[in-house]
Amino acid sequence: PNSMLSGLPTTIFTVMSALAVQHDAINLGQGFPDTEGPADMIEAACAALRDGRNQYPPLTGLPELRGAVARSNARFYGLAVDPASEVVVTSGATEALTASLMALVDPGDEVILLEPLYDTYAPVIRALGAIPRPVRLTPPDWSLPRAELAAAFGPKTKALMLNTPMNPTGKVFDLDELDFIAGLLARHDVYAICDEVYEHLTFGTARHIPLMTLPGMRPRCVRIGSAGKSFSLTGWKVGYVTAPAPIAACVAKAHQLLTFTTAPNLQRAVAMGLDKDDAYFATLAADMQAQRDLLSRGLRAAGFTVLPCDGSYFVVADIRSAGFAGSDAAFCRALTERCRVAAIPVSAFYDSADPPDHLVRFAFCKRQPILTEAVARIHAGL
Ligand code: PMP
Ligand code: GLN
Repeated sequence: PNSMLSGLPTTIFTVMSALAVQHDAINLGQGFPDTEGPADMIEAACAALRDGRNQYPPLTGLPELRGAVARSNARFYGLAVDPASEVVVTSGATEALTASLMALVDPGDEVILLEPLYDTYAPVIRALGAIPRPVRLTPPDWSLPRAELAAAFGPKTKALMLNTPMNPTGKVFDLDELDFIAGLLARHDVYAICDEVYEHLTFGTARHIPLMTLPGMRPRCVRIGSAGKSFSLTGWKVGYVTAPAPIAACVAKAHQLLTFTTAPNLQRAVAMGLDKDDAYFATLAADMQAQRDLLSRGLRAAGFTVLPCDGSYFVVADIRSAGFAGSDAAFCRALTERCRVAAIPVSAFYDSADPPDHLVRFAFCKRQPILTEAVARIHAGL
């Protein structure tokens, strides 16, 4: 078998979800909501099945969904996008990420990554024969080490992957940081693959700014969204790529090889979802913010130092202040077994050696009574 894949461990999300089931734990590990997505979208998906929408849709996605993606880009970010040539629908953001890397990198190219990072990035880069170049953000505020980032760019750098709002840190990159990154991309003629699956999940005064909206960035950015996160329908696996036409054409070629297409009834329902009014998206973020606050308060009361979180599904806690001396992985195992609450060690989000091992990620995309119960279990069991 392929040596990279045979050496790849099973994803931490699957490992911790299995442990959670084994111990009947509340699963604050893998990031999925415990509520259903919008009932009208689910009904639209069912109706589309009954209407006979069951054969291969067009390779780049149903025109109605591509149109909705373009309208969403215009409404939220003022981006003018041609739905026919600049949008590709994929089977989740996961496929979009792989397809975008396939579209942009050749063997030997370097791709700059910001750690902590989502767990598919580095293995896929390696599988394509390219080279991951991780640069670490600095906790506890996950600041950007600007000099180090600048130094990571070189003649082989082809792309940078940017996840904002960021999993697992909850960091939302601000305009000044994005400006700095944009300057480096322009100076070194580098592409950006922008993982923006949490685009509608920002809290307080934080707001999501797509790198693509910065001056000069439109031709070099690939922007990725996910219906899973925007509509609390993670199992649907509908993603969408917005990119300049020549890159989108290459992403479409990769999509042709990977899955060719994505379930048509789900595409139709997601098209409807993207056209929901502003109040829907505001409520999604406000509810999530209330859940973040509830969980953060509970973790603080239990003795954890809770790191700042301005977006996403996740909050990170420093376990040292709660008196836990072992590693983050040992903590997560003990928490699942003793307190029946599952979480994810942040070290799993590092590709480079010797990651920090004192940080743990908790998902707050759960109903408030569940979060309250989780906090009570942690208090009782620690
Ligand atoms: N990127 C990030 C940062 C994520 O957290 C996730 C999964 N939750 C994905 C990509 C994958 O999204 P999808 O489920 O649409 O494939
Ligand atoms: N993105 C989700 C998380 O970070 C998990 C997705 C998966 O299980 N592959 O928890």
